[in-house]
Amino acid sequence: MDDIQELFSLFPEIKEHILVTKKIGQGTFSYVYLGEFYQNKEEKVALKYIIPTSSPSRTKQEIDCLLNIGGRDNVIGVLSVLRNKSHVLIIMPYVDHESFHGSFIYWTIDEVKEYIKGLLIALNRVHQCGIIHRDVKPSNFLYDSKKKIYALVDFGLAQTYDSSSENIFTYEKLNKNRSNHQSENTPDKKNLISISSKKSTGQLILTTPKTQNTQNKSDISSLPNVPNKDCKTQMSISQSFDRNLNEQLIKPTSTIINVKNFDSPKPSTPNLQKFHSFSKPGFTFSDNKCNCFNMPFVCEICTARPNKWAARAGTAGFRAPEVLFRSNHQTPAVDVWSAGIVLLSILSGRYPFFKAVDDYMAIMQLTSLFGGESIRKSSIKYGESFLCSFDKQPDDLKEICKSLRRNSVQTIKSKASNETEREANSNIIVDFPDGAYDLLKKLLELDYEKRISAENALKHQFFET
Ligand code: ADP
Ligand code: MG
Repeated sequence: MDDIQELFSLFPEIKEHILVTKKIGQGTFSYVYLGEFYQNKEEKVALKYIIPTSSPSRTKQEIDCLLNIGGRDNVIGVLSVLRNKSHVLIIMPYVDHESFHGSFIYWTIDEVKEYIKGLLIALNRVHQCGIIHRDVKPSNFLYDSKKKIYALVDFGLAQTYDSSSENIFTYEKLNKNRSNHQSENTPDKKNLISISSKKSTGQLILTTPKTQNTQNKSDISSLPNVPNKDCKTQMSISQSFDRNLNEQLIKPTSTIINVKNFDSPKPSTPNLQKFHSFSKPGFTFSDNKCNCFNMPFVCEICTARPNKWAARAGTAGFRAPEVLFRSNHQTPAVDVWSAGIVLLSILSGRYPFFKAVDDYMAIMQLTSLFGGESIRKSSIKYGESFLCSFDKQPDDLKEICKSLRRNSVQTIKSKASNETEREANSNIIVDFPDGAYDLLKKLLELDYEKRISAENALKHQFFET
C-alpha cells in the first residue's frame, strides 16, 4: 500500500491531527511515511505502516521492543501504535537523516567516532535489555548530522536473549519470566502508555503520557519515554499477535544438506561412509561421512540427521560467522559483528563492503579477508566442517582498509568538476588513527566468545583520543 489516502481510510484518526506528506522508506515488510502535526508543523513524525502479510509475531516483537526499550540511548521511541484489523501503524519521532552511502566518506574522524559510539550506545542499551537486534546496518541506524541525533530503528527481526542459558527465546517466555517479577517492578502508572480499543472498528490505540508535549523535540533521548527504566517492566500489545512465535527460526532448505552438525546420528550403513561433500566455486563443506550428495538420492544417514535449525535473520553482508554457520550459540555478539562491518565500510571507503547473495558467498568473502585457516577453525567452533580448496592467507585489516579507502578517495577526487567540489574533497580523510583499526579487529573477532561487547567497545581508546 503506497497511497496516503488509503492510509487515511485505514486510520481516519490520524487525518485529524497529522498531515502525511510523502513516503520516505520502503522495506520488505513496511512503508514509512513522513508526517507533521497540524498544530505544530515543526513536530515531524515517521509513520511505519506494516504490511498485513508480515507475521503477527514479527509485528508484536517490533512493537514490544520499541515500547520496552525505545526512547532513550539512541533507540527510537514510539509515540503511538494504531491497529485496524491486520493493519498496523507505528508512529515514531521523525529523524531527518541522510543516506549513509552518500555521506560517510566525507565524515571527519570526530564524526566517525561519534557515529560508531552512537551505534554502540544503542546496542549496549538493546543488549542490556536482553534483546538482539539482528539487523544492524546503516539503513536501520539513522543519523541526523545537523542535530546530532542517532536512532536505531527496525526491530522487526529482534529476538530476546537469555544470557544464563545462551538461548534465544520468544517473547512469550520472556513475558512469563517478567510477570514473575512484576510485583518488584510494578511500573509507575503515570508513565504507562494507555491502551484503548475501539470495539466498533477493532482498532487498538496506544497513547503515550501527556508529558510528551512538553519534551524537547530535537532530542530523541527525551522524547516520550517507555515506562520502564530498568528494562524489567513489560507491556503486552494484543493477544492477537501471540500466534506462531517461533517463526523467526527459519528451517534451512534442502540445500543445507551439505552443512551438517557434528552430533548428528552415526552412520549405520558402512558402504555409504565415504565422503559427503558439496562444492561451490572455491570451497567445500564436508563431513567426511558419506557421498550421498554426489548420488541422485539422499541416503538414510543424511535423511536421519536432524535438520540444523538456527536463527539466520538479517542481511547477508552483515551476518556474523556464527549466523552464517548456523550455530545455535547466537548472542548479542551478532550485532557487534554487524557494527564492525559498518566500521569496516567507513575505514575502507567501500559500501557495501560485502555484497553477498547468499550465505555461501558470504562465507567465501569472509575467507578472502580472514584467510582459509581462520574460517576453517571458526567453522569447527560453530559445529561445521569447512574445507577451503585454495590456501588463502589472511589480509591485514588495517592495510586493506587503508589501500581501499585511498582508492575510493582518489576516485571521488578525480570526479570533482568545480573548485567548490575540489575544495570539499581535499578534506576527505584517508588514514584513521590506529585505535580505529584496533577497534575494528575487536568488533570483527570471528569467535563470538572473544568478540568485544558493546559495553566494552565504548571504553575503547579510539573514543578517548
Ligand atoms: P523495514 O522493516 O521495512 O526495513 P524500517 O523500520 O527499517 O523498515 O524503515 C525503513 C526506512 O524508513 C528506514 O531505513 C528509514 O529510511 C525510514 N525510517 C524508519 N523509521 C524512521 C524514523 N523514525 N525517522 C525517519 N525515517 C525513518
Ligand atoms: Mg530496515
